Amino acid sequence: MGDLGGNAGHLRLSKPFLSPKESNIMERVHSTEILMSAATPLDTLDTRSPDHLTRPLLGMTQAELTEWVQQQGQPAYRGKQLYQWIYQQGARSLTDISVFPKQWRSTVAEVAIGRSTVHYRSEAADGTVKYLLRLADGHIIETVGMPTYKYTDLPGNSAVRRGASERLTVCVSSQVGCPMACDFCATGKGGLLRNLEAHEIIDQVLTVQEDLGQRVSHIVFMGMGEPLLNMDNLLTAIRSLNQDVGIGQRNMTVSTVGIPGRIRRFAEHQLQVTLAVSLHASNQATREKLIPSARAYPLQTLLDECREYVSVTGRRVSFEYILLAGLNDGQLQAIELAQHLRGFQSHVNLIPYNPISEADYQRPSEQRIQAFVKALQDKHIAVSVRYSRGLDTDAACGQLRASRASAIA
Ligand code: SAH
Repeated sequence: MGDLGGNAGHLRLSKPFLSPKESNIMERVHSTEILMSAATPLDTLDTRSPDHLTRPLLGMTQAELTEWVQQQGQPAYRGKQLYQWIYQQGARSLTDISVFPKQWRSTVAEVAIGRSTVHYRSEAADGTVKYLLRLADGHIIETVGMPTYKYTDLPGNSAVRRGASERLTVCVSSQVGCPMACDFCATGKGGLLRNLEAHEIIDQVLTVQEDLGQRVSHIVFMGMGEPLLNMDNLLTAIRSLNQDVGIGQRNMTVSTVGIPGRIRRFAEHQLQVTLAVSLHASNQATREKLIPSARAYPLQTLLDECREYVSVTGRRVSFEYILLAGLNDGQLQAIELAQHLRGFQSHVNLIPYNPISEADYQRPSEQRIQAFVKALQDKHIAVSVRYSRGLDTDAACGQLRASRASAIA
């Protein structure tokens, strides 16, 4: 059990600030593989590590927080108070916790709960809010809040928004940067700086909740980074977001480009989260052009691991497929994709490409997108199109951080 300890399992993937050119992606992936610990059921996950009395408090269970307050010479019931204040009230500092004795508060004023600060915020017309959050060490990550509203149609092709949003989805980052270098992705252009700690993942959700004054209902791990390269911290964050913040596992989606052996290992935890796999191609050759790491991970092997995920967890897998004009959006590719997925408990999410300045791809026409949808439907494949939200704020995923680079310095 101890081998899954939060910080004990912290992966030191690279030196901070390692330039992407200096590093070989697959070498990192394989060295991480060796460092990964064995699977443990989420309920028995022990987040303790030797430094569990000094690390940021966010991510700790109520029992761990109780141990911590007792270590500080306080009665055990203060652990429950602390637990409620950090997860439900969103306390940013122990000095905020008014039920604590004043004198003790001043002695623990420097103890980190693990909250970030909002470095930049921009809101789009559809209600999407993009945030750049500054971490304790100065790194900046991107988080997106996406409220979904009910609309009433008005005559003349317009609509009016009704009341508070029905659901609030947060798109969270799992790493600062990303080592996978997918050719169409803005985040991949900058390489990996480091993994996020569990508290830095949980903080993103609390920050959006606090800023929008509404409980977060859904989480998608589709921000910066490759979540399955940060497995221990991902699992700690999922446990805490589920049990401490109160978000159902079925309302969480973990998106991965696929790392050999990792989907299997993730499945062993028997979570109820949805696994989304970034497929993006209907054959190995096209996939290798778009995703460098695919060279070490044949499409068939990836699909086999996905099938195992379905049989172990009973949850269907969702396949993400970016539509790039003239590259992977033809009828033959749709048919090829359908052949791979025949009889597979899955769902295809088509994502029309969001142009980024560093790549030369085009988004297909609406007509071509719909033709691809129809070709899949004709083969009885469950399919939907995901149009990116908040495009008036800043273009594609990762773009906000890129376009604000000067402000970050
Ligand atoms: N590393 C994980 C999660 C982060 S990316 C993964 O690869 O799944 C989340 C999703 O956004 C992925 O499906 C990714 O391929 C997609 N994405 C990245 N750049 C994009 C772009 N420019 N246009 C559309 N989707 C993009």
